[in-house]
Amino acid sequence: KLSLGQEMDPLFQKQSNSRNSRILVFVRLRPMMRREKEAGCRSCVRIINRRDVYLTEFASDNNDYLRLKRLRGRHFTFDASFPESASQMDVYSTTTADLVEAVLQGRNGSVFCYGATGAGKTYTMLGTVESPGVMVLAIKDLFTKIRQRSYDGNHVVQLSYLEVYNETVRDLLSPGRPLVLREDKQGIIAAGLSQYRAYSTDEVMALLLQGNKNRTTEPTRANETSSRSHAILQVTIEYRTRDASLNVINRIGKLSLIDLAGSERALATDQRTLRSVEGANINRSLLALSSCINALVEGKKHIPYRNSKLTQLLKDSLGGACNTVMIANISPNNLTFGETQNTLHWADRAKEIRNKGYETNEELVHSDADQAKLLLEVQKENRELR
Ligand code: ADP
Ligand code: MG
Repeated sequence: KLSLGQEMDPLFQKQSNSRNSRILVFVRLRPMMRREKEAGCRSCVRIINRRDVYLTEFASDNNDYLRLKRLRGRHFTFDASFPESASQMDVYSTTTADLVEAVLQGRNGSVFCYGATGAGKTYTMLGTVESPGVMVLAIKDLFTKIRQRSYDGNHVVQLSYLEVYNETVRDLLSPGRPLVLREDKQGIIAAGLSQYRAYSTDEVMALLLQGNKNRTTEPTRANETSSRSHAILQVTIEYRTRDASLNVINRIGKLSLIDLAGSERALATDQRTLRSVEGANINRSLLALSSCINALVEGKKHIPYRNSKLTQLLKDSLGGACNTVMIANISPNNLTFGETQNTLHWADRAKEIRNKGYETNEELVHSDADQAKLLLEVQKENRELR
């Protein structure tokens, strides 16, 4: 039996190096909560060898591997699957650490958490003060890496945190009026979105916790974040350096970390084709995300990004020149068997998406005057940083 962190999945390494990579798909099973145990809930999921997920309708607390093997239709494999015991650091280092490295080299990357409400998306993304999640660990790692290489340039890290709720985009760090999406030469931007220049990790957790408090809550359940709210943390890293012929180049990498709305009810899916079927209580953005994924899987020319605010915002983070990671969060509770099955099917489908992958966003700074000016700025900022 392999334990977590024992080895790096060779498949994972291979794919993350290939140019035409498909997106990486991971599954994380959350532990059974005490109150679930007390209510007599049983586990319907078993993860074996860090990769295989078995779904059973009945409890499987004994390790009857052969019996599990017979459940062919309910067996899934992913790039890695995390059992209940996986730590936040395990999840971060396997799913996201490579993306952080790529983003530092001027590429885009994105990590999505998908799953039903209560399956552990926010825990995985944001986490708690004692056990910070992927968002915080990524930024921490980013600063460590920048510190290690600050001799070769100057990095500016900026954060924005926004929400899509009922097709309205809001700034979570500076709440106010809804933001309008505009198209400019860099792509779709939320006009007026605040950007926080981040200097250290310490302030980030507090900032994000505060931002999360600003997420929309359902009127009937005052303190709980609405299960229909999507939260997107965008981290941009701007970096000036010189190429081999000593031209000053500006590199911009963008990391998007996304805590999606709950997938239950929001999507009614036809189990055979896994196509979304319109239902009464639909989350337009999640539905649109699903149709973009279907179109990407089928290799369609036209990807319907324009159908929702979420997909417009994520246009450069999905399917294009981006490194994409999906984390499907599931609960072991046998009472949510149906939701878990939906999530696993969706994640299985997401494995088929192929991204163009690995393009670097860089602009050459042309005139000598421009170069000289930039160089002065870089030197000045370096001095300030030191
Ligand atoms: P979601 O955002 O998907 O609705 P949450 O992240 O809020 O779900 O998780 C639901 C509950 O389960 C929370 O109380 C959370 O702290 C807890 N939880 C989720 N995942 C884990 C985990 N891996 N370890 C410990 N507690 C977890
Ligand atoms: Mg949540």
